[in-house]
Amino acid sequence: MLVEHAAIIGAGVAGLTAALALARHGISSEIFEQAPALTEVGAGLQISPNAARILDRLGILDQLTAIWLEPQTIRLISGTSMHELAAVPSGRAARARWDAPYGVLHRTSLQDALLDAVRNDPLCTLNLGARIDGGDLSVMSRKAEVIIGADGVWSKARDLIADSPSSRFSGNIAYRFTVSAADARGILDGNSVSAFLGPSAHLVCYPLREKDCFNIVAITTGHASSREWLGQPTQAQRQQLMSRFSRWNASLLSLFDKSGEMTFWPLYEATRGKWQNGRDTVLIGDAAHAMMPFAAQGAAMAIEDAYELASFLAKRPAAEALPLFEAHRVPRINRLRQRGAFNQFVYHARGPLRIGRDIVLSLKPPQSLAADLDWIYGYRAID
Ligand SMILES: Cc1cc2nc3c(=O)[nH]c(=O)nc-3n(C[C@H](O)[C@H](O)[C@H](O)COP(=O)(O)OP(=O)(O)OC[C@H]3O[C@@H](n4cnc5c(N)ncnc54)[C@H](O)[C@@H]3O)c2cc1C
Repeated sequence: MLVEHAAIIGAGVAGLTAALALARHGISSEIFEQAPALTEVGAGLQISPNAARILDRLGILDQLTAIWLEPQTIRLISGTSMHELAAVPSGRAARARWDAPYGVLHRTSLQDALLDAVRNDPLCTLNLGARIDGGDLSVMSRKAEVIIGADGVWSKARDLIADSPSSRFSGNIAYRFTVSAADARGILDGNSVSAFLGPSAHLVCYPLREKDCFNIVAITTGHASSREWLGQPTQAQRQQLMSRFSRWNASLLSLFDKSGEMTFWPLYEATRGKWQNGRDTVLIGDAAHAMMPFAAQGAAMAIEDAYELASFLAKRPAAEALPLFEAHRVPRINRLRQRGAFNQFVYHARGPLRIGRDIVLSLKPPQSLAADLDWIYGYRAID
């Protein structure tokens, strides 16, 4: 029997996109979100062309392009000398090469656009303040033929699937904050995504046009316990951050003092494991494969998962569709994990490795750097 109705646990990027993608195939869904209101924590998001292409098919890209910024370049810069090490052309070049735009925006902007579309679609029902534990879906208004666990890195839906992934601390911490455009003037480039690289740490900065500020994420190694999940850094955690960046360029460091609220964000990742039970339950997004943000692809993969899952479910009963979906997605996710690990190695290189990295990067022409991204950004999700 083909799926007519789905239950979705979690209304993050994965869950909301799944509801919209299912609706395109005439499949109704009910979303259960534990939060009483959807207020995004965190700040910025890079939406790469592979994800933008899907958002276009779902009818929400125009809403985003009206407010986001399409950076002209993605730059790698030394965080100590401030020399540009490499630059990938983006902006119009991204549209021409990957046939879809690359944009940066505030997370709430994407969430609002997805939410509006869900609320306006008669096939989607959103229940806020509805936490689902242990797969107890007795709150469902209608029986679902498939349960989609889109409940993030701490997923409880994993309990419904034998040998599913679990979460582990990666050894990395992200410190996230924003700085006003006025405070960043003369230090940060308002037309680029800039990744500043230094020993065992890097800093990603890009403008958020709709908020007139810069999004800044500092990522470095550090310690955390699972109880320290999201919050303002303690004095010791701030010192940990400053010690990692102590030899960096002084003007870049001055941004740390100009930050508004800073968030201490220990990075957890999902171990490998089964995403589906071969019957009626499947994981997508961070619940299935939370990964380090070194390739800035977590939300993009959640969007691809959601869209492709709906395509599989549109044509086959759940018991057939779910194993096919997993077999189709796993190789791409594994390849992205490898790219993330490679980027971490390159971004955080120290000593002689760093010198070698700088030489190799300076010898690579921009078009060759762009070609390295073709398999990620040029991907066309199956319909
Ligand atoms: C520092 C950093 C920078 C990043 N930058 C980028 C970037 O530039 N580009 C990009 O593509 N990705 C980026 N990512 C990754 C991206 O943010 C995540 O991969 C993405 O948000 C995951 O979406 P999701 O919907 O799977 O999970 P989530 O966003 O975590 O959503 C899960 C939802 O489920 C709900 N939920 C949880 N448990 C339950 C329950 N029991 N019952 C009901 N509801 C529940 C939660 O409240 C939440 O709303 C970044 C990540 C980090 C940490």
